[in-house]
Amino acid sequence: MDTQTLLNYDREHLWHPYTSMSDPLPVYPVESAAGVRIRLMDGRELIDGMASWWSAIHGYSHPALVQALQEQAARMSHVMFGGLTHTPAVELARLLVEMTPAGLDKVFLCDSGSVAVEVAMKMAIQYQYAAGHPERCRFLTIRGGYHGDTFHAMSVSDPVGGMHQLFAGVLPQYFFADRPECTFSHDWDDRDIASFARLIEQRHQELGAVILEPIVQGAGGMRFYHPEYLRQVRYLCDTYGVLLIADEIATGFGRSGALFACDHAGISPDIMCLGKALTGGTMTLAAVLATSEVGRGVSQGKPGVFMHGPTFMANPLACHVACASIRLLVESDWQQQVARIARLLEQGLAPCRELAQVADVRVLGAIGVVELKKPVAMREMQAAFVERGVWVRPFGRLVYVMPPYCITAVDLQILTAAIVQVVAGEGRL
Ligand SMILES: *Cc1c(COP(=O)(O)O)cnc(C)c1O
Repeated sequence: MDTQTLLNYDREHLWHPYTSMSDPLPVYPVESAAGVRIRLMDGRELIDGMASWWSAIHGYSHPALVQALQEQAARMSHVMFGGLTHTPAVELARLLVEMTPAGLDKVFLCDSGSVAVEVAMKMAIQYQYAAGHPERCRFLTIRGGYHGDTFHAMSVSDPVGGMHQLFAGVLPQYFFADRPECTFSHDWDDRDIASFARLIEQRHQELGAVILEPIVQGAGGMRFYHPEYLRQVRYLCDTYGVLLIADEIATGFGRSGALFACDHAGISPDIMCLGKALTGGTMTLAAVLATSEVGRGVSQGKPGVFMHGPTFMANPLACHVACASIRLLVESDWQQQVARIARLLEQGLAPCRELAQVADVRVLGAIGVVELKKPVAMREMQAAFVERGVWVRPFGRLVYVMPPYCITAVDLQILTAAIVQVVAGEGRL
């Protein structure tokens, strides 16, 4: 199929993320990807700034991950997890229990981030139900969050930026505290927790759990908040007997400069969701980790079992690749790599601070964000990045990057220089 035929068929028949079926923005056909480069079908190569939405932390087509995939495919791609088990699942559980914050030692493996959020919320409800509190079935979260696209995940995502109006008739109504204002490196101000503290005090008898993204609010606005906020949330959840669910789907595996964002605050949640970088960007897989207390609670009384079991639960291909990806990470000097990327992002994006159209520039770990004052012209901006040989996908008022950890200083300079140029040009559009 020649490129034009492919593009025509795509345009006619394929939905892309958050895209119109009748007037879609252009898409760029990809031939292959290796390291930090995405190769287009016309031969152009793009330096990747997105790690395919937080996931490809080791870059593309890493030999160790390709080998793991091939080995496992030759042994067995999948068997049902009901009544059967296998080494890839057990090995992965062991790695996750070892590396995640203390106390998380029961592992549920499922298909995607959104499903992991559904699973975590169901666990909280079943836990409270079994503890004799069927009324504790609602959730408290913070504004500015994003937890996925399935219904309950939507219900705890930001009510303004999210899809609450559109789905008002079907979405459950939950509680939203003001979003944290104290930034990661700013001084802590006790007033920041007041809205959250008031809501949990008023509503704890109806609450099954608090769910939030620790430290980094991702797709809801790319904001980095103060670790003290998270410590106080943990304290208040303990005070009122409410479970804490940490959605680390974007932040897990070193992205924010700590192995898990919860580590910045030194806290352990009761339930943690992982996804995205879990398989190093090779395929979809997510994990929900819970404490023994949650595991015991869910399993007592009626129904006595956790009511979830997807067809492709603990898919061996995905689990084996995830083990390989985690080993690559922990055996690398990822802390230094992420710290190096943070420094280069700070330097490279600094010129954006001088631009009148820019509201804020911020960096945490291997995440760099340029927030504009107005929404970007997506079509023009996307094309301008591709012309400069980089892959950056802005949304709303945000131009942001989270490159693979293996990106070189030279490539990172090209990436940040392109952002400075394109954002500067954006003012003239
Ligand atoms: C991406 C994301 C999800 C949803 O994951 P999917 O795999 O896209 O379903 C949930 N929570 C957070 C914080 C995310 O970044």
